[in-house]
This record gives sequence, structure tokens and C-alpha cells, in this order.
Amino acid sequence: MTDDRNAEPAEIDGADVQALVENLLEPATMQAIFEESAATLGQTLTSDSLLETVAKAVAVTEDVWRDVEVDQPAYACRKGCSWCCHQTVMVTAPEVLAAAAYLRETRTPAELDTLKRHLEERSEEIAGRSTGERFAAGLACGLLEDGACSIHPARPFMCRGGFSEDAGFCEDLYNDYRGVIEAVHTGKREETFLLAPKMIFNSAQVGLATALRERGKRCEGLELTAALRIALDDPDIAKTWLADEAVLDAARLHRRGSDYVTSAETAS
Ligand code: SF4
Repeated sequence: MTDDRNAEPAEIDGADVQALVENLLEPATMQAIFEESAATLGQTLTSDSLLETVAKAVAVTEDVWRDVEVDQPAYACRKGCSWCCHQTVMVTAPEVLAAAAYLRETRTPAELDTLKRHLEERSEEIAGRSTGERFAAGLACGLLEDGACSIHPARPFMCRGGFSEDAGFCEDLYNDYRGVIEAVHTGKREETFLLAPKMIFNSAQVGLATALRERGKRCEGLELTAALRIALDDPDIAKTWLADEAVLDAARLHRRGSDYVTSAETAS
């Protein structure tokens, strides 16, 4: 762990190109967000510097995406289309803290109480369930309201990078997850998700998490609904997380075969 703001940020090891491709990472964006985040975090980590770091990382990454968007195929994603909002959303703690801050700024105490109850119920329903199992049970992200994202300006990187050329493919995936995945693996169907935004926003997430890890903070993958349920219980969650990042551990995602799931035991 280092607290030296002027120290040269470490290079992210981008030598293993195959690993980067397999993990859908793009070295230039990852390095840029890492350096920007390392500088913005400042000498002493505070709630303010943490939230400012997330905001800058999002703004820079959206600029990168805007620059390349013009060369991408047209996508079908529109407000009201929410098939993908039923999948497991992997986030890191700073993204959760930023979403919690946004909700506290934009909702009344009564609205927050209603949302907290919904997130609690939904966290229990999705505990131990993979994306395919969530699709089969029709369990959406706890932030989906009336078919639209209720935290759109503060949505996580994974949601920002999800674009599909064909909403029919997303609908089929929702209705028959295993069947469609099998068809893709055997070459009978082609995935219709755009690779470029996925890589750009995945890379930003890793760049931001790496800057925090350099400062000694754990930044494991968390499930969004479960993590926000915990975060909204504490008005000072950013400060609490800076003192002890284990506060979000009940929302950690664990590998189960090729899936990621929260632990069924720690849901409530
Ligand atoms: S945060 Fe918003 S965009 Fe992301 S899955 Fe939830 S509702 Fe959908």
C-alpha cells in the first residue's frame, strides 16, 4: 500500500495479449483510468475523493466510448428494453458507493425505505442464483423500475458497456439461456453484443479497481442488488467502507462452475 500521490503509478501488466482478449480488456483504457484514478484519489482516501474518482472514471470512459461509437454497428438498446437487466451485474465497491450516493441525493427518505425493502427481498431471491437461474425465475436487478433503469446516470460500468445489435437475441437468451449459450458455442448462432463498449467499460472497471488495490483496498466482484441493499443501510457507507471494506462482503460473488453467484447463506 502506498499513500504517495506523486509516485509513478505502476504499469498494469498488459503483456499477455491473449489473456486480455479472453477477459475482454483493452490496455489503453485500463491504463488511462488507472492513472486518472490514482491521481484523483489523493494522498488521503476520503469519501469525497472516492466519489470524485468514480465520477471522473465514468466521464473519461464515456468520452472514449463516444469517440468510437460512430464506427460501431447500430444497436437495438432502448429505454424500456430490459432483458439484460435480469443478469448478474458484477460491480466493485466504488461503483456501489457512487450509486448509493446518487440514490441518497435523488430520493426522499420514504422512497429510500421502499427501495431498501425491495432490495432486501430481491437480494434474498437472487442469492445463490446464476444469471441463467435468474432469467428462468424472472428476477430483475433491484434497480429496474417500470422497465427502466432507476439509477441511469449512476449505473455501473458493466451496464454502460452492454449493447446488442438484436433485442431478439437478448429475449431468446432470457427465455432459454442454456440453449442459446449452447447454440453460440457450437456455432449455430452468433452473439449480437458489441465487443468494443464491453471491452472499454470492463477495462475502466479494472483500471479503477487496480488504483484502489494499489492503495491497499480490496475490490472484489460484488453483486449489485445485494451490495446496494447493504450500502443503503448506512448513510456514511463510503466512510465505513474506507475504514473496513468487509462491510460489503455479504454481496461478494463466488465462482460456481462457469457462473458467479452470491452466497445463499449470507443473503440477509
Ligand atoms: S443498474 Fe440499471 S442498467 Fe444496470 S442492470 Fe440494474 S436496472 Fe439495468
